[in-house]
Amino acid sequence: MNVSFVADEMLGKLAKWLRIIGICVFTNETEDNFDDEALKLAKKTGAVLLTRDESLYRRAVKRGFKAEFVPEDLDEALIYLSRKYGIDLRVDLSRTRCPLCNAPLRMVNAREVNPQDIPEQVLRSHEFVLVCDRCGKFYWIGRHYRSMLTRLKRLRELVNSSVDP
Ligand SMILES: [Zn+2]
Repeated sequence: MNVSFVADEMLGKLAKWLRIIGICVFTNETEDNFDDEALKLAKKTGAVLLTRDESLYRRAVKRGFKAEFVPEDLDEALIYLSRKYGIDLRVDLSRTRCPLCNAPLRMVNAREVNPQDIPEQVLRSHEFVLVCDRCGKFYWIGRHYRSMLTRLKRLRELVNSSVDP
């Protein structure tokens, strides 16, 4: 599962989910001229372009890039990419990435964290938290995370069945 992606800005939510699953997803960091930047990035990294922009998709394919015009629906998009690229739709905490900036997360003992950085009840109820060394954000396994796991489990079942979502 060494595929990596460049996602266009309309696909922010998909990029976040893929990063949490552990897939490297680049996004454009400068505001202007996404199309050119995305193609440059795809060329440099060998990443597959993910887009909802038909003209960008056509341009990319015409110029020999690997590109996907992905379904608008998040579930459908994840199922499609999972089937096509063999992506296992589950979270492995040793390879999960920062949903905001794509850097790999590091697991740290909650007791080593500065108490100002995360809410007190999280410190008390979690042995480990995850930290992004690039943007400094902390993550922990809470209700939101558990609902993601439930959704991914359902998606895995759909991937493994022949039925379309
Ligand atoms: Zn980050």
